[in-house]
Amino acid sequence: MRIPFLDIRSGYLELKPEIDDAVSRVLHSGCYIHGAEVEAFEKSFAEFAEVPYAVGVANGLDALVLCLEALGIGYGDEVIVPSNTFIATWLAVTHCGATPVPVDPDVVTRNIDPAKIEAAITPRTRAIIVVHLYGFPADLDLIAPIATKHHLKVIEDAAQAHGARYKGARIGGYSDLVAWSFYPGKNLGAFGDGGAITCRDIVISEKLKALRNYGSRSKYQHDIKGYNSRLDPLQAAVLRIKLKYLDDWNWRRAGICNVYMNEISNPRVLLPTVSEFSDPAWHLFVIQHDDRDQLQKALGSAGIETLVHYPIPPHRQKAYSAKFGAAILPVAERLAKTVLSLPISPHLSKAKALEIARVVNDNA
Ligand SMILES: *Cc1c(COP(=O)(O)O)cnc(C)c1O
Repeated sequence: MRIPFLDIRSGYLELKPEIDDAVSRVLHSGCYIHGAEVEAFEKSFAEFAEVPYAVGVANGLDALVLCLEALGIGYGDEVIVPSNTFIATWLAVTHCGATPVPVDPDVVTRNIDPAKIEAAITPRTRAIIVVHLYGFPADLDLIAPIATKHHLKVIEDAAQAHGARYKGARIGGYSDLVAWSFYPGKNLGAFGDGGAITCRDIVISEKLKALRNYGSRSKYQHDIKGYNSRLDPLQAAVLRIKLKYLDDWNWRRAGICNVYMNEISNPRVLLPTVSEFSDPAWHLFVIQHDDRDQLQKALGSAGIETLVHYPIPPHRQKAYSAKFGAAILPVAERLAKTVLSLPISPHLSKAKALEIARVVNDNA
């Protein structure tokens, strides 16, 4: 038996006739940059996220960079970021010329700890980037008052949270700007790169549309120094189809996670905690174990592929260690040593999930 961590190809095969049609439609259209396909996806994605505006961009990192740019954040500014996240959250801040200021997560939610944010605020702080890590919404109602008090913007990195709900509402329109990635492995994944930003403010959404397209609002007129960060219409066409199945596929992921929650009884394994305020998107099922490497090896020997999200926190990466190497971020350090992500692909069978739970239990 071999169980891959994520089976993206099965996602294509399940929807093959529809996707092949859509791709062929784009190829025959003769329109290969922006156009109707991208606009149609933006409209559908905004509706899905329960927000007035969605702006397609080239990828999730660009989505974060353009969010910061649109809010005027740059050189000399500080942006609070979680210490436990994918490095893109930090890189976006750096690429804007600003400085990331890490804050450790809460040990239970594993999202940025609202109680630790104020201590990290300085006169230079301009924004907080909140990441809904592993698809679990952060407690936004605890973060918003801190931002208001200190006149900070809030950007949500929702790259792992497509379809998640916070207090009943979809992730997508709570904060100033919400950034998305459609990297193939995300819950809503393209067959290549893609990204988007959602928001409630038409002025900001128009600015984002200029920023992603060379700062241009009409052809050959460049009002601001923009980027080339456009959502590919081929990917938009694929995403339009996959969006229709997103709730269903998230529901299938939740089914696998239920099996794990009910069946894993290994006393050395810490299971994820679902906060009462959230319906997670179940992007990743991340357990913790003190002998993580050994458990991962045992699962590997049984043919079960697992991953670690993430083995090295950003402040320990070579790219950042010169500046942050001495930073004291004990929760992030501990998570990096203990976390392990089990397979929860929407194309994984319940029987296989049961088998995985059994192997986890056998390695107490
Ligand atoms: C995937 C991811 C990104 C970056 O997305 P790309 O599309 O790969 O650029 C940013 N933040 C988080 C939390 C992610 O998981």
